[in-house]
Amino acid sequence: MESRDYLFKVLVIGNGHVGKTSLVHRYVNEKFNKNYKITVGVDFALKVLAWSDTETVRLQLWDIAGQERFTSMTRIYYKEASGCIIMFDVTDACSFRNVRSWKEDLDSKATLPGGNPLPCILLANKCDLSPWDVPLSSIEQFSKVNGFIGWMDTSVKDNKNISESINFLVERMMTVS
Ligand code: GDP
Ligand code: MG
Repeated sequence: MESRDYLFKVLVIGNGHVGKTSLVHRYVNEKFNKNYKITVGVDFALKVLAWSDTETVRLQLWDIAGQERFTSMTRIYYKEASGCIIMFDVTDACSFRNVRSWKEDLDSKATLPGGNPLPCILLANKCDLSPWDVPLSSIEQFSKVNGFIGWMDTSVKDNKNISESINFLVERMMTVS
């Protein structure tokens, strides 16, 4: 049997304080670090997945930091990305309103080699908290209208839907690559 290796660069974007750095740490190191630390620049972390007997997936997760206020990134950052995670905080309506700008920034600066938009998943994070400041129905609608492959409610804190959502994105990246 022939084995196949995939390498995917995955961007993690969204407003500050929504949980991007925590997500990457949770996913890569399998822990939740509750000390809030402002990261400066761009961090990336690698996760290797034994996807199947014959397929290995290497995920390079790019976590932006310190540039979240601008809802805009340089093209260099987006270069050769295979997929994207846009995250907001369900208790912070402003972070949800800015998702549109993040998606527009992404689609204007990065596409697949054939010109199609990158597969992008929307994560409604901090779903362990209440009350939510963003109604469920508007997330559902928004995700459909704005070309996301889908959305999931996540809690990095409770480890809810973290590997599930990333696996969903990986599946999509594998079919378009
Ligand atoms: P970033 O600025 O988007 O990278 O956000 P951070 O990962 O630094 O997280 C900002 C704050 O939110 C930190 O205090 C985290 O501990 C907290 N946080 C992240 N994810 C969750 C979550 O799912 N639930 C709760 N309750 N807090 C979270
Ligand atoms: Mg961060």
